[in-house]
Amino acid sequence: MYEALLYEKLSGSRVRCHVCQWECVIQPGKLGVCRMRRNDDGILHILNYALVSSAAVDPIEKKPLFHFYPGTQVFSLGGWGCNFRCKHCQNWEISWCEPEESGRGSQYITPQEAILLTQRYGCRGISWTYNEPIIWLEYTLDSAKLAQAQNLYTVYVTNGYITAEALDTIGPYLDAWRVDFKGFSDALYRDLAKVPRWRGILEMAKRAKEKWDIHVEVVTNVIPTMNDDEEQLTGIATWIRDNLGELTPWHVTRFYPHHYLRHLPPTPISTLEKAAALGRQAGLRFVYLGNVPGHEGENTRCYSCDQLVIHRLGYHTQLSGLKDAHCASCNADLNIRTAPQGQLATRHPL
Ligand code: SF4
Repeated sequence: MYEALLYEKLSGSRVRCHVCQWECVIQPGKLGVCRMRRNDDGILHILNYALVSSAAVDPIEKKPLFHFYPGTQVFSLGGWGCNFRCKHCQNWEISWCEPEESGRGSQYITPQEAILLTQRYGCRGISWTYNEPIIWLEYTLDSAKLAQAQNLYTVYVTNGYITAEALDTIGPYLDAWRVDFKGFSDALYRDLAKVPRWRGILEMAKRAKEKWDIHVEVVTNVIPTMNDDEEQLTGIATWIRDNLGELTPWHVTRFYPHHYLRHLPPTPISTLEKAAALGRQAGLRFVYLGNVPGHEGENTRCYSCDQLVIHRLGYHTQLSGLKDAHCASCNADLNIRTAPQGQLATRHPL
C-alpha cells in the first residue's frame, strides 16, 4: 500500500487530494472520484501503483504525436481509473472499473521493469496512455525519473485536468503533453465528460509549455452535434494560436460511435476538413486529420515553402524533407522535436 504524494490532512480524519482539479475532499473509508485513492483513517493511499492494465509497443504517431520523435516506437502503459466519465470512452473497462470488476487481469510492473522493457523492445521512450496518467502520478513520476536518467523520452496522453502542484511535480521529467481539448464550452464538458469546470485544462497546457518546456500537441475528437460547430472549433484553434503558438500541432480526429454515443454517426470527412480549414484560418500552421488513413491531411508540409516533410500512411511514417527539426528545403522552424542523428535508442536483446 502506497501513501499518496500530494494531499492535505483535514479535520475529522478527512483528506483533500491535490492531484487533479477535482481536489476531492475524501471522508474516512471513502474513495476519490477516480476510485484509485482511498482515505484510510486520515492517510490517503493509492490503490493502483504499478498495476498495469495494458502494455504495448506503439508508433509514436498512434498517440497521436506528429512533431515528436517521428517514426519512433514508444512503450505504452495503461493503468486503472479516470477522473472523467466521457460518454464515448473507448477504454471504460480500465478507466471506470477496478481490476476485480473489469474481469481483466493486472500485471505488476515496477518502474525499473518498465524502463528495462522500454529498452529491450527498442523503444525511444515511454508513454502513459489508455487511461488518464494523472491518476497514477506517483508511479509515472518514479518511472519518468528513471527514463530521463536513461535518455528515454516520456509522454503523457492526458485529459489535462491536473493541478499546478501535480504538474510542477512531474513537469521536470516529462517531454510531451498530448492533451485533449474536447470542446470549448462549459456545456460540452459538463455533458460529455461530466466535469463542471474545464478552463484549468487550458491553463495547465500553457504552463506545461511555458514553465517546463514540454512539447504540446492538442487533439479534438470531433463529434457530430456536440462539438462540430464553428464557434467551438474556432475557439479552440484561436486559443491554441494565442497561448501555445501557431506552430502547435492540432489534430482533429474522426469520431466513431461508441458506448453511450452509439446513436451518433461517424464524423463526416467533410466536417473534419472544415475543422482543419477553420484551424488554418485561425492561423495554425499544422492541423492534422486523424482516424482517416491515407488522407492528405495526415502529412506534414512546410508552411513556408509547401515542401512535403513527413509522409504518413496510417502508422507508416516516411521522413523525407526534415533536417534537424527544420525544413530541409527552406530551413523553416517546424517545431519538431527529434534526436540528433545517431542518438536514437538501439534495441537491447530480450
Ligand atoms: S486524483 Fe483527482 S479524482 Fe482522484 S482522488 Fe485525487 S482529486 Fe479526486
